[in-house]
Amino acid sequence: MRSGEIVESLNAEQQAAVCAPLGNSLVLAGAGTGKTRALTHRVAWLASEERMPIGSILAVTFTNKAAGEMRERISGLLRAQVSGRWIGTFHSIALRLLRNHRHEAGLNEDFSIIDADDQLRIIKNLQVELDISLEKVDPKNVRAYISRQKDSGRRAKNAANLQNPYAGEFRRIYQAYEQRCQREGLVDFGEMLLRSLEMLQQHEVLLRHYRHMLTNVLVDEFQDTNAIQYDWLKLIAGDATSFMAVGDDDQSIYGWRGAEVANMNKLLKDFESVKVHRLEQNYRSTEHILQAANAVIAHNQGRLGKNLWTDRGSGKPIALNRAVNEFQEGDELARFAKQHRVDGGKYQDIAVLYRTHALSRVLERSLTQSGVPYRIFGGVRFFERAEIKDALAYMRLIATPDADLAFARVVNTPTRGVGSKTLERLGEGAGERGISLHRMAEAAIVERLLPSRALNAVEGFITLLANIRRATISCELPEIAEKCIHMSGLMQYHAPDASEPSLGRRENLEELINACVQFAENPVSELDADGDEPETVTPSSALRDFLDHASLGDEAAGTEGPNDTMRLMTVHSAKGLEFPIVYLVGVEDGIFPNSRAIEGDGGLEEERRLFYVAMTRAMRELRISFAEVRTRYQGSSISMQSRFLAEIPEDHIDRMFQEFTASRPSYSRPRVYDGRARRVEDRPAAQANGLRTGSAVKHAKFGSGIVLNVEGSGDSARLQVRFDRAGTKWLVLGYAKLQLLES
Ligand code: ATP
Ligand code: MG
Repeated sequence: MRSGEIVESLNAEQQAAVCAPLGNSLVLAGAGTGKTRALTHRVAWLASEERMPIGSILAVTFTNKAAGEMRERISGLLRAQVSGRWIGTFHSIALRLLRNHRHEAGLNEDFSIIDADDQLRIIKNLQVELDISLEKVDPKNVRAYISRQKDSGRRAKNAANLQNPYAGEFRRIYQAYEQRCQREGLVDFGEMLLRSLEMLQQHEVLLRHYRHMLTNVLVDEFQDTNAIQYDWLKLIAGDATSFMAVGDDDQSIYGWRGAEVANMNKLLKDFESVKVHRLEQNYRSTEHILQAANAVIAHNQGRLGKNLWTDRGSGKPIALNRAVNEFQEGDELARFAKQHRVDGGKYQDIAVLYRTHALSRVLERSLTQSGVPYRIFGGVRFFERAEIKDALAYMRLIATPDADLAFARVVNTPTRGVGSKTLERLGEGAGERGISLHRMAEAAIVERLLPSRALNAVEGFITLLANIRRATISCELPEIAEKCIHMSGLMQYHAPDASEPSLGRRENLEELINACVQFAENPVSELDADGDEPETVTPSSALRDFLDHASLGDEAAGTEGPNDTMRLMTVHSAKGLEFPIVYLVGVEDGIFPNSRAIEGDGGLEEERRLFYVAMTRAMRELRISFAEVRTRYQGSSISMQSRFLAEIPEDHIDRMFQEFTASRPSYSRPRVYDGRARRVEDRPAAQANGLRTGSAVKHAKFGSGIVLNVEGSGDSARLQVRFDRAGTKWLVLGYAKLQLLES
């Protein structure tokens, strides 16, 4: 009866994949064809029909949100709450392996996870210690280098040499970084996978145990796996494992992070008798949207190829909006959202997608001004906000007094007179003695190693920690969080008054306590009745688990409330999701595709795949907008609509504007969107007149040049200028602040 339900809502091809006998398979299919659905139903099928314990099923996805949804769907199908400890993201599962086998992994009891910010801080410190210039070797590049090395399975000793003059420095920093992390028990994101992989490679017994236990391995969005993820899956999946990968080569969007579509072909070679299933019916989008997306992606070479169709009806053509500038683009978005609401729709039907986060700032302004509620999804993630990280640092110090990064983060937050000099001296002392900052601080107090003012300040901090520890000794997780936030003075520090930002930070801190309540009710480490070794949840293990959970990030926390709000996110974070209405902004050359891809770094096809992902998120309505003038860096510049728009057949587009033609001498800019535009209006229009083809001009940033072309008149005139040093550019007179040198 249950199996009936699992199969009924699937088409024949999906059924074939879901009900296949145990063995290896690859579901290769386009967007919205029900790959994720097939994968979840397969898990339910394995559990109910093949009588596999949930604990024998390893199902991996890329985001916490997707993993959460997967767990929920499976629970629904099985009519039982499964917590599915092996259903999760690559990182959460790798971390579970490391926590379960710290010793084999070569990690100490209390290792902690560090995020990208922490990494950067460590790298900077190391560069100072190693005397490697921060100007010549950008720590961010070092961080990217280290991640890249780990993603391809390389330790410092066999790291790749970069093709740049500082290749040696990069390697030296990586080496020092590796040592520091090892000594201090720090694990970054790339490390989780690499270390768990090495651990299983080096411990035959463990590997056998997991291969024996996890007899089913399933992975969603397989096209985005990188080398280490592939090796990791391949290792865990032994010969007896039934392996299922689902993916779409057209949606591979993490090439820049080392993902390889080639893994699809590799899978066919490396795994035994892989049965390939293809799904062609798209259940998500209406015809206009689907066909437009198909037409765009057809421009890529070397695709595995597929033929998608839908019976959702033709629907509406794609609405294409042209805005004069980014401010009008934001206003137009707000207007649309309000109208949608007036027409009886909900804000939550709409997802606003953009190529990069930076584009959201101006949109937010318009939305706030017009009172359209929205949430930024995956922006500064909840657990990455400064006030939250401060609170977590206190919590970490309660769990692990020797956590140096946490110590350094809050020893002077709230401000208590511990300056950077003091911290530096403690750091040196700790290094010399081989002890933690916390212990060094205690030693400094006893041995009076610091000037008395600094000593008092440090002593205040150590006493505070001891007090919090004492006060929380028999407390549950939420109380621990609450005491950390209040006793430390963080609440007062971050939310001192009733101003908007202050209230926002107060809410965030309160939300952290809420998150603890929720976590305590439903800890992630809760076990299934799957025969796996039971774990008892003690307050201290709950605290540690929560800190892990927070470090892994949780897109859902603090970003989704009960209210009806519009969602804003990058195309990357929209992967795998769907929305009734997608509103895609900033569709201009140089943004989408980005300028690197245009300049011929070979990234154009990946940008097109990303564009395809964006389009195929839409269920019934897709709106695309671009601005003619956009502020970038210091000046405004004319934008050209994205070349991808020309790849959409005309009959799928509904233009919301008149096409600008050469015969039209000028167009007038609708009036005034912000203070800056107003300033432009105030300027004497005569300024336009002095300029013509051949005029010599000077620009504050680009230097001197010659006007090649003039289009339009007044402040909105566009000029093509060939600059002596900066090349040829189109500029808008009203924004460009050109100085006429000679007419
Ligand atoms: P993406 O490539 O974007 O990850 P996908 O292939 O994983 O997409 P799903 O998200 O699984 O597709 O499914 C897309 C939509 O179609 C979902 O709303 C899903 O519930 C619906 N769907 C999938 N299969 C069927 C079906 N057989 N009958 C009805 N609806 C279906
Ligand atoms: Mg999917």
